Amino acid sequence: MSQTIAAIATAAGRGGVGIVRVSGKNLLPFARALCGKTPQPRTALHTDFLDENGEALDNGLLLYFPAPASFTGEDILELHGHGGTVVMQMLLARCLALGARVARPGEFSQRAFLNGKLDLAQAESVADLIDADSRAAARMAVRSLKGAFSQHIRSLADGLVHVRMLVEAALDFPEEDIDFLAELDIAAQVADLRARVAAVRAQAAQGAMLREGVQVVLAGAPNVGKSSLLNALAGEEVAIVTDIAGTTRDTVREQITLDGIPVRITDTAGLRETGDRVEQIGIGRSRQALAQADIALVLIDPQEGINDTLALTLHQLPPELVRVEIRNKCDLRGEAPFVADGSGSVCGAAAVVGLSAKTGAGLDLLKHTLLRQIGWQGQSEGLFLARSRHLDALARADDELAHAAALAGAGANAELLAEHLRLAQNACNEITGEFTADDLLGVIFSRFCIGK
Ligand code: GDP
Ligand code: ZN
Repeated sequence: MSQTIAAIATAAGRGGVGIVRVSGKNLLPFARALCGKTPQPRTALHTDFLDENGEALDNGLLLYFPAPASFTGEDILELHGHGGTVVMQMLLARCLALGARVARPGEFSQRAFLNGKLDLAQAESVADLIDADSRAAARMAVRSLKGAFSQHIRSLADGLVHVRMLVEAALDFPEEDIDFLAELDIAAQVADLRARVAAVRAQAAQGAMLREGVQVVLAGAPNVGKSSLLNALAGEEVAIVTDIAGTTRDTVREQITLDGIPVRITDTAGLRETGDRVEQIGIGRSRQALAQADIALVLIDPQEGINDTLALTLHQLPPELVRVEIRNKCDLRGEAPFVADGSGSVCGAAAVVGLSAKTGAGLDLLKHTLLRQIGWQGQSEGLFLARSRHLDALARADDELAHAAALAGAGANAELLAEHLRLAQNACNEITGEFTADDLLGVIFSRFCIGK
């Protein structure tokens, strides 16, 4: 942290403005050497950026944020120059010549964390905001950045500290401890904490869905309408549709957004025995897609029922994979689109949807069914864009509290109880970074982009 770091903070490529960011201790001499003038704190200085001979490299604005009131808590300089690749490289090179070194990915945020400007969950939300690929995700990231998630976790940790104090006080009066714990109704307080952890977990799990998205695969016999359904789903989508091309024969992926949730849909190659090399590769990919899927849409032709090809397809699906049965081509049967529970399913599905990929009838029923099957509760307000790291920590806190709850009943063992409460508190503190190993910090920040 004693070194001055610098990086181009704006995206690579051409733009009207490009920014080089510098963080370090005592950057006024640096600024004077760079501009030949002394900047005032938090005031835009219109200036030339000078090379070692005093010639202008660029002309722009210099911002100076003295420590500690800056993003990193150190002195920060922002050089707002012209956003060309070469001019940005020249400004960066000039900063290096003045004694800075190139910042590692996430190093500005890491310094902000180490200087207590942000907690770990907030620092992660900076990266999440930059990476957000839906409005809902971006909004959640901003709320976390402003500390909403951290506040929930802190208040949980505070509650745990409070109960721990009571239990540990009871330990100091061993002859009375059972009465003491009963009198304070520790069991009820632990139960209350468990309920609060469960609530945060549920919100975080929903948020994780928005963050990670869901994987859907299409399966079924050839010609049943898999590719048509994929196109219908993707084509109807007015929001961003990404084509992920370059896959082998009939394994095509599209990303759509359902109620803010990224849904990746993979059209699988027909699964069958084949000597064709290319087709074998396609089938291999289908199996991979199935292994990672959250939901399988199984298309069947009601006239055909379960023929050999479909039986083989079903056999390939992991048994625990959630299935939705699609009776496609309802237009050919003169049938209205419908949705029903799984009782009439021929493939063990949780729901059955009748639709027509060709006319688009019933697509909305399918979308609702998908959202219901993944457990989406339909609103992003109040959710947290949790990472699996956060979900793991909350699961551990829950686990420790379950042990604590079991111990808090009759004939409580105060010592063990206190230990489980302590471990639950540690798990919560890992989320905000108050109890996180250095090597884990390194891993977290290395995934950030450079200049952040
Ligand atoms: P895949 O082999 O399962 O991917 O099936 P395709 O999507 O290639 O469709 C096979 C044939 O069925 C094509 O001629 C489609 O136009 C037709 N088809 C697909 N869905 C429907 C539908 O809902 N109604 C009607 N009438 N035809 C459909
Ligand atoms: Zn197809």
